[in-house]
Amino acid sequence: MKNPAPDRLTPDIDRVLFDRQAIEARVRELGREIAAIYDHGPGDECGLTLVPILSGSVIFLADLIRELPIKMKIAVVHVSTYPGTATQPQSPRVLVELAGDVAGRDVLIVDDILDSGRTLRRVQAMVQERGARSVRSAVLLRKPGKAPPDVRADFVGFDIEDLFVVGYGLDYDNHYRNYPHIGVLRATVTS
Ligand code: 5GP
Ligand code: MG
Repeated sequence: MKNPAPDRLTPDIDRVLFDRQAIEARVRELGREIAAIYDHGPGDECGLTLVPILSGSVIFLADLIRELPIKMKIAVVHVSTYPGTATQPQSPRVLVELAGDVAGRDVLIVDDILDSGRTLRRVQAMVQERGARSVRSAVLLRKPGKAPPDVRADFVGFDIEDLFVVGYGLDYDNHYRNYPHIGVLRATVTS
């Protein structure tokens, strides 16, 4: 069997929205879009810090940074919006404060998905308070029309319908993060 662990997860997935090849191709394009903004050529110290929002962004982060051939630092922050079995957003809770070099630097916040925008708004404010030189954000997924207009992502992988999705880092009750595709959970799993 090629993928023993993920295959155990497949029965819980109602349908796949993006398979791993489609995700890989889009992440590569995003890398190019982002590098075009921050890469000023040899000799330029661009001072980029990526701020990934744990835990959902870990797989996206790991793939994205290997598509960014520029000097960078990473400063993680851990925010929980869907604790445990919740499939409706709760107030974002900061579980681990932002730790790392942000003051005077160009910051790119990285998250798995932009939904109501509450998480991104919270982290953007945190980064600005720490004196970042510029603040942009990259999300793999976005549910259009849900976040208020002042909470916007600068780089977006895919727009999706307003569905609860898992895989490629996104979880339900901390499971399915290792599912290599992005899919919609079967209703029987969440009920
Ligand atoms: P927001 O604060 O924009 O409502 O939600 C953003 C956070 O909620 C994301 O970082 C992500 O962890 C979580 N989230 C939002 N929508 C989904 C979803 O459809 N599936 C999963 N697994 N997590 C989601
Ligand atoms: Mg998250």
